[in-house]
Amino acid sequence: MSRLQQQQPTPPERDIPAAGRAGRVPPQRPLRPFADELRRATTLIHVRASGAADTGDAGLAAYLLSAWRELHSASHVPPHCPRCGAHKTVYDGTDEGSVPFFHCGGCRQRFTRLTGTPMARLRLEDKAETFFQLASQQVSVAEAARRLAIKSETVRHWSVQTRLWLLELDPQGEWERRVQLGVRYAVMPASAPGESAPAMHACRCTIASDDSEALAEMENAPLLIRVCPLCEQSAH
Ligand SMILES: [Zn+2]
Ligand SMILES: [Zn+2]
Repeated sequence: MSRLQQQQPTPPERDIPAAGRAGRVPPQRPLRPFADELRRATTLIHVRASGAADTGDAGLAAYLLSAWRELHSASHVPPHCPRCGAHKTVYDGTDEGSVPFFHCGGCRQRFTRLTGTPMARLRLEDKAETFFQLASQQVSVAEAARRLAIKSETVRHWSVQTRLWLLELDPQGEWERRVQLGVRYAVMPASAPGESAPAMHACRCTIASDDSEALAEMENAPLLIRVCPLCEQSAH
């Protein structure tokens, strides 16, 4: 793994010629990593020779923070119901220190703007801004946990939920691909049996190894796959 750690793990996908990308995928092999490949997946940190600190992706941090503030808006203007989609909704009060509640005339249930989103049960609170800044940086999960004063397990959970949320906000996945924190990579053999993985869930895994010269020069080089949050979620 040490050689891979020297590589930039997430080349911007748009810079990869489509033909090159397609050419590396054996036709009989789906991108979705198998269970044992997922189990062995690991985080990669790009080691900079200069030792310069990674300042991250300010655009992603700002996008996340603004979307987060929208979810926590104090506005009483009722959104449509996240459960049944009804527009017959009314403001239904705000508890002390809480976000506004709404009542749905369709399914007769109470909801907030967080209901049904991957962020609903996360307690980011005053750590949200720092977490969103760390999300795009090449920092280890352990280092992020130290800076946020939370457990590594919580950092990993927040990262997966945030990536799932980004896929809901932007189904094209452009924003999700900019997340670095806690993202794992799986190594898949180039010549694998043609057996297809069971389609238990959607998968947005992408090839991350195309711009690695070391891998490109190898015959039958393994594929380095950026594990998507849907696969991460299903692995738990
Ligand atoms: Zn409803
Ligand atoms: Zn996947």
